[in-house]
Amino acid sequence: MKHLIRLLTCALVAASLTGCAVNPVTGKKEMIIDSVQQDIFTGQQNYGPSQQSQGGKYVVDPGLTAYVNQVGKKIASVVDGPKLPYEFVVLNNDTPNAWALPGGKLAINRGLLVQLDDEAQLAAVLGHEIVHAAARHSASAKTQQMVVGAGALLAGAAIANKKPEYGILAVGALAVGANAWNSKYSRDHELESDKYGIKYMVKAGYDPQAAVELQELFVRMFDKKEPNWLEGLFASHPPSRDRVAANRAEIATYPKGGARNKEAFQRALAQLKHDQDAYLSYQDAMKAAKSSQYDKALTLVNGSIQKQPKEALFWELKGQLLLQTDRNKEAIPALDKAITTNPNFFRPYIYRGMAYKKLGNTTNAARDLVASQRLLPTQEASEELGEIALAKGDKNTARSYFEQVAAGGGKAGERAKARLAQIQ
Ligand SMILES: [Zn+2]
Repeated sequence: MKHLIRLLTCALVAASLTGCAVNPVTGKKEMIIDSVQQDIFTGQQNYGPSQQSQGGKYVVDPGLTAYVNQVGKKIASVVDGPKLPYEFVVLNNDTPNAWALPGGKLAINRGLLVQLDDEAQLAAVLGHEIVHAAARHSASAKTQQMVVGAGALLAGAAIANKKPEYGILAVGALAVGANAWNSKYSRDHELESDKYGIKYMVKAGYDPQAAVELQELFVRMFDKKEPNWLEGLFASHPPSRDRVAANRAEIATYPKGGARNKEAFQRALAQLKHDQDAYLSYQDAMKAAKSSQYDKALTLVNGSIQKQPKEALFWELKGQLLLQTDRNKEAIPALDKAITTNPNFFRPYIYRGMAYKKLGNTTNAARDLVASQRLLPTQEASEELGEIALAKGDKNTARSYFEQVAAGGGKAGERAKARLAQIQ
């Protein structure tokens, strides 16, 4: 019946829109408006900003990203349908989460990796996410929105206004380009991703029992109401006992056994596991900072740095805390360290730009703020750049920066509107 309705909807809407397509994974007829090329373009456009707004790449151990890519590509190579330019990154983020953009651009947080036991469980996560991309769930979700109401026909309909994760100095994101991809998948899409994720992990040689274990882990964490999980993976992939049961029924249709690759997984994770204490005291430092206990936070983050001096996030927080307590000159070398250890993350550039501005070095301040904008446009950087331009008497430049800030809304948007009124 559902199938019939789908076909009927397809026939009705196809008259006015581009039409139906056979889903390459499921073989079902669906109405999809975007082409695969459009998917690939959307993925490429959003991949960089989505990574930036979620902590940027994890760079302490590049071997881990290489390993995740190797596992991901093994599964991607057995997926049906057009070959997508698959790419996998590990994000420098404590929250257990993983996501897929259209067109095969995927990410997994280090906060999820440390919760897994072996390569087969990683294959279950990646297989599930790969199916969201390969079965074009984002495109058909968008299509459904468009069919439901003509008013929803917006290019960015699938880009929810999800707030990126920040440090203690809130850095607002501009309306365009800065939002993390946040597809809300339907229950049907979740079950479909589980089912075909299992199919492809088996095809790639893995033990499908790992997919059941993964769902059981999710249910356990969900029952515990782990806050980190609730804002991470569960926001887009709600777990349930039904899903565990469905996965259990699904794996019963396959022969038992398959690769687990526990040793290879543990080897790849060794550095990250070794650094867990350093990340835990970093999390404590963040908590202390949020309740304005800056000296306590500084002591904690210094402990993290001692344990793992190659982690840019630790140096960044140190710089941020020094900036927060007006020790601007001391903040610079800490932020230098953050930037040299990971030059491709936007946030320390903003803080160093702010520190330079407070020290009266507007040339260096502007250079850093512009560098941050190239990685991720933010209201914070635009506002600072607007103020610098205004102080120099460059009203046109100031105006264009404040207009960007105003478009982003919020408190910064209000301040920018007041500035624009002054400039006129
Ligand atoms: Zn999912």
